[in-house]
Amino acid sequence: MPPKPQIIRENGLNHSFCGLVSVGWLYQKIKDSFFLILGTHTCAHLLQNTLGVMIFARPRFAVALMEEGDLSASQPHLQELIDEVCQEYTPSVIFLLSSCTPEVIKVEFEGLARSLSRPDLPVLFVPASGLDYTFSQSEDTVLQALIPFCPVAPPEDKRVVFLGSVNEVIADDFLTEADRLGIPVAGFLPADHFHDMPPIGPGTVIAPIQPFVAKTANQLRNERGATVISSLFPFGPDGTRDFWEKLAQAFGKEIDLAEREAAAWERIREHTDLLKGKRVFFATDILMELPLTRFLRACGAEVLECSTPYINRRFLARELEKLEGVKLVEQANFDRQLRDIAELQPDLVISNILSTNPLVGKGVVAKWGTEFAFMTIHGWTGVNTLVGMFTRSIKRHRQLDPLGSDPVWTTGIMPSAPKVIPLVS
Ligand code: SF4
Repeated sequence: MPPKPQIIRENGLNHSFCGLVSVGWLYQKIKDSFFLILGTHTCAHLLQNTLGVMIFARPRFAVALMEEGDLSASQPHLQELIDEVCQEYTPSVIFLLSSCTPEVIKVEFEGLARSLSRPDLPVLFVPASGLDYTFSQSEDTVLQALIPFCPVAPPEDKRVVFLGSVNEVIADDFLTEADRLGIPVAGFLPADHFHDMPPIGPGTVIAPIQPFVAKTANQLRNERGATVISSLFPFGPDGTRDFWEKLAQAFGKEIDLAEREAAAWERIREHTDLLKGKRVFFATDILMELPLTRFLRACGAEVLECSTPYINRRFLARELEKLEGVKLVEQANFDRQLRDIAELQPDLVISNILSTNPLVGKGVVAKWGTEFAFMTIHGWTGVNTLVGMFTRSIKRHRQLDPLGSDPVWTTGIMPSAPKVIPLVS
């Protein structure tokens, strides 16, 4: 067994993005769902600002605003609101999301969700406040809430269920690839529609495609007896090859996708040439940092630090095996990171919502990590998009910087005059 890399735990303050943000992709994925957040004006502003760019259709989410009077009520009254939502959107399922304020005043969400549920319309409680979770983990919580609605498959039903939310393009790619390799598919969790959740039982092989769905995978293993594959996550040619080879093994097939991987690397050679030798610093909060670091290293980049809010050692075991020699930090100390960024002068910083714009304003090439959660970067189809997300920031900075290849940093101190650079590249 390869040696495990050492993980440094700094117990820094939680600067993670709020869990409510996952609504942005989940309401689009589960097309007959509605997400109702019991929150405050702060939550409403966050969703409006973060997801505002996506409000080109009628968004199926809303914030039930808690006013002062609600703070003393033992249970907020949501029935009228639920009736309105039903009338206007006719959802098949409503997810009731908590937020900081109701959690602090201990609203009894489980009971509230039960009292609002009807036989034809379940209301499912999802804890998703900014108090406990990073934003991507709340997808895991939504998926856990869906488990009871996955039919129980008989033991002889040996098929794969892909775990994690991806859009139609990526889902089609996975279905096509599975078909090509002769791997039978039961479906995706989550499915596009609430009543189409896949059957899961002791014969089911769970293939996680998102690195932040550990709780759901674990529950399916424990409660349904399903087998969860341990592979790299399908990001980049190396991860995608390992993912499909391990999945095929679970079905008794030995396949070698070396040629496929080599062809995929060849297709992105222009990008990997640019990334070779680049020094990248992860200071973000997406829970995708480990697979992205592994991919960047395979591209020839040097990762100076890979920090992440939380590392599930078992779920990420295969990724950890590939990260020998990388400085891995859990719950990083943000101040220490800023000092290190100033001193090490990385070529690219993958940062969080708090730090991206200030870093960019200081002339650092910084990319907001949250974008990775919204982009189609999985599997063979996602390879170009994935690598382009790293190289685009570097290329754009070069184009905008009239000094060309001059170093961004001139001393160990951040330059004070900001260059003209788009806020999020
Ligand atoms: Fe802010 Fe908490 Fe509301 Fe999230 S849930 S927007 S962290 S107040």
